[in-house]
Amino acid sequence: MRQRIAVVGSGPAGLTFARVLHRHGHRVTLLERDPSPDARPPGGTLDLHEGLGQLALDKAGLLSEFQRLSRPEGQAMRILDTDGTVLRDWHPGPEERANPEIDRGQLRALLLGPLDVQWGRGVARVVPGTGDGALVRFADGRQEAFDLVVGADGAWSRVRAAVSSATPQYTGVTSVETSLDEVDTRHPDLARLIGDGSVAVYGANRSLVAQRNSGGHVKVYAKFRAPLGWHTASDPADAEALRAKLLTLFDGWAPPVLDLLRHGTAFVHRPIHVLPVSHTWPHVPGVTLLGDAAHLMPPLGAGANLAMLEGAELAESLAAAPEDPNKAVRAFEEQMWARAGRWARITAAGLERLVSPDPAEALALFDEVQPS
Ligand SMILES: Cc1cc2nc3c(=O)[nH]c(=O)nc-3n(C[C@H](O)[C@H](O)[C@H](O)COP(=O)(O)OP(=O)(O)OC[C@H]3O[C@@H](n4cnc5c(N)ncnc54)[C@H](O)[C@@H]3O)c2cc1C
Repeated sequence: MRQRIAVVGSGPAGLTFARVLHRHGHRVTLLERDPSPDARPPGGTLDLHEGLGQLALDKAGLLSEFQRLSRPEGQAMRILDTDGTVLRDWHPGPEERANPEIDRGQLRALLLGPLDVQWGRGVARVVPGTGDGALVRFADGRQEAFDLVVGADGAWSRVRAAVSSATPQYTGVTSVETSLDEVDTRHPDLARLIGDGSVAVYGANRSLVAQRNSGGHVKVYAKFRAPLGWHTASDPADAEALRAKLLTLFDGWAPPVLDLLRHGTAFVHRPIHVLPVSHTWPHVPGVTLLGDAAHLMPPLGAGANLAMLEGAELAESLAAAPEDPNKAVRAFEEQMWARAGRWARITAAGLERLVSPDPAEALALFDEVQPS
């Protein structure tokens, strides 16, 4: 392909896009703000769905490697009442591969493979209109022109402003994340409580979910309704302040459940923001968006899956029509908006039910979506 293409961001969207183009023999300039692949912890585990994230990996030629690395047993799900009573205890059958789990770090390494990322290249803004292409302005003041710039730079995208004035809005639900290490040896009771996959506890307007990653690592997510300024400490990861506030908020829940918070380390406060459910924009030649940059939605198991499939689909469309990238982008955007709009509605409704005044709503949602 003679066209110069840049993708901003090396998350699931940007990496899948670059990897599928690479598979078709095309080069892409991959610009990432982080100074190195290990600059920050990669985050928790992701479940990749058969028709979404797994399809994207298939398009990248990486499905069998994913099957080797992923954890189908991680699909297991246990639901408890706030007094510790087990309400549901679902285990996947031996052939169940609909949504296996993979650590984000493993997925990133899998997608990175032979790709050449330009680390430490934070983009400040993108200016469309240089011919059919766009100009990338970097945080260090330099600039570079491309025929197509793909913004895969996540929730707080700097590319988005080139096509849309939308900004993420707070949902009214916030989240605090903490972790447990070596859970099987250091906290065997909690290891049994969590099982092979996840344990979730739903109370009025709040929930606690603990999810097993590989190597005995566990991520715990507390979600609850609170004003945006609920935690205003100068250090958003102030572990003891966050732990104390959560223990007060979840006071009265069963002691083994609260142990998830008592033994947690590295607390991080993450208010949940979303873009408007049907976020679209008039097509701008030379610029488009993928993943969270295009359709930030509640973190309910869809975002990375959509981001990856979009990356793969856009790459395939460009590879199929290299002489007219804007035609390929236009068709891709229509397809992305339709699918993302459906998922944005599903996840917005899901968040309302999972963090609801009536905890029975969460249980009902589980029964609706869980395979029998
Ligand atoms: C707690 C939690 C759990 C989740 N669980 C799941 C799940 O199980 N399944 C699922 O499908 N989704 C899940 N999601 C959602 C998922 O994480 C996101 O939807 C997904 O990561 C979006 O991918 P992305 O590539 O669009 O953006 P990101 O993953 O945010 O990647 C963006 C990249 O761009 C880089 N970047 C940002 N700004 C710039 C800049 N200015 N210049 C250059 N680079 C830049 C960033 O450093 C980053 O590498 C979860 C989200 C959260 C918060």
